[in-house]
Amino acid sequence: METNSSLVELPPLPSYTLTLRQPVLAPIPDNVLSLILPVVAYWVVSMIFHFIDVNDYFSQYRLHTPAELLKRNHVSRMDVVRDVVLQHVIQTIAGLMMSVFDGPEYVGHEEYDVAVWARRVRIMQRAIPTILGFVGIDSIALSKTLSDYPSLSGFLAGGIYPGLVQTTTLRTGQEVIAPAHAAWELVFAKFIYSYFIPALQFFFAILTVDTWQYFWHRAMHLNRWLYVNFHSRHHRLYVPYAFGALYNHPVEGFLLDTAGTGVAFLLTQMSHRQAMWFFTMSTIKTVDDHCGYHFPWDPLQLITSNNSAYHDIHHQSWGIKSNFSQPFFIFWDRFMGTRWQGDVTLKYERARAAAEAQVERELSENNGQSVSTVLESEPGPLDAGAEDVSVQERAPRKILPRTTRSASKRGHGVNGSIRQK
Ligand SMILES: [Zn+2]
Ligand SMILES: [Zn+2]
Repeated sequence: METNSSLVELPPLPSYTLTLRQPVLAPIPDNVLSLILPVVAYWVVSMIFHFIDVNDYFSQYRLHTPAELLKRNHVSRMDVVRDVVLQHVIQTIAGLMMSVFDGPEYVGHEEYDVAVWARRVRIMQRAIPTILGFVGIDSIALSKTLSDYPSLSGFLAGGIYPGLVQTTTLRTGQEVIAPAHAAWELVFAKFIYSYFIPALQFFFAILTVDTWQYFWHRAMHLNRWLYVNFHSRHHRLYVPYAFGALYNHPVEGFLLDTAGTGVAFLLTQMSHRQAMWFFTMSTIKTVDDHCGYHFPWDPLQLITSNNSAYHDIHHQSWGIKSNFSQPFFIFWDRFMGTRWQGDVTLKYERARAAAEAQVERELSENNGQSVSTVLESEPGPLDAGAEDVSVQERAPRKILPRTTRSASKRGHGVNGSIRQK
């Protein structure tokens, strides 16, 4: 138990007793749960998109046709699952190793922390007469004329509330009269403590992850060695699908995803409960960015311009040198001039037509075989070698003339909504 009774001019801080915070899902410790939830969320959300895909629901919102899914990717789904599972194992082990350094989390100090903020609010009010003086307002005189409104009067006087007092007991046992907080100060302090500070932590965590990922991701494309040895693996998916979101070389997976969110967690001093939200939401966002659908009603695709259509451009051989930003916002692409400019409708139509033509050709060449046997064959030569750096390096930044043509008439198609906002 700790007591604080500094009470000369400011309201005293309350004493508090610390107790260990109980886990959300006992007996699993919160820090372990924050490692489990993202993995569970990854597969649950991925399987929802997979279910939509295999049943061909919402085909009007597909970014690519089923024929493209079959023919344009340069990796089998089983290989994707294997590498994602490996990444999940690595990130969980890394998280468990980091948790060795975590101290226990306590509760019981909340009222004290709010009082500390209320004191800061009180101290900051001392600047009010000076600030209002700059615009010609005599706030001291004004506070006297408004004495019928004690809160307003005290605020204008610079945080002086002579009528607000309380009786408090010193450590010596002596009872004394001490200043007290106005109700609005406590409400404001509680808002800062309970909402504003956590919001700032999430904001800076997002900023950290976006910055970390942008520059590492961009370096992976600019440096031939990094691209060939690590990042080219992710680009075997020309037609991304949800559970391919974390299909990476293990080194890249650790460096970009695990380390990025880990650094954000450490820098922002999040609690484990905040980390549960942050890790899980980051994971769901990444899955959603690779889902292969541009839904008009998916909140994750509406909140920012960085969504599945935006990231899909980066997965195309012609867009691979643009749209590096991920997973939350696109401000780095804007600042660094790497955002894809121009209409993409024709490019998507061409890729779609080529995949469909290939499927039809294979079907006619394999007359004796069932359709499903042919469709389940290995990926075809479309985008051949584009995961190789030589093609990646010559990926054109050519901008096609804008067009108003919509591909949505074709059943499966990228409609006009994929155009950059
Ligand atoms: Zn990339
Ligand atoms: Zn991707």
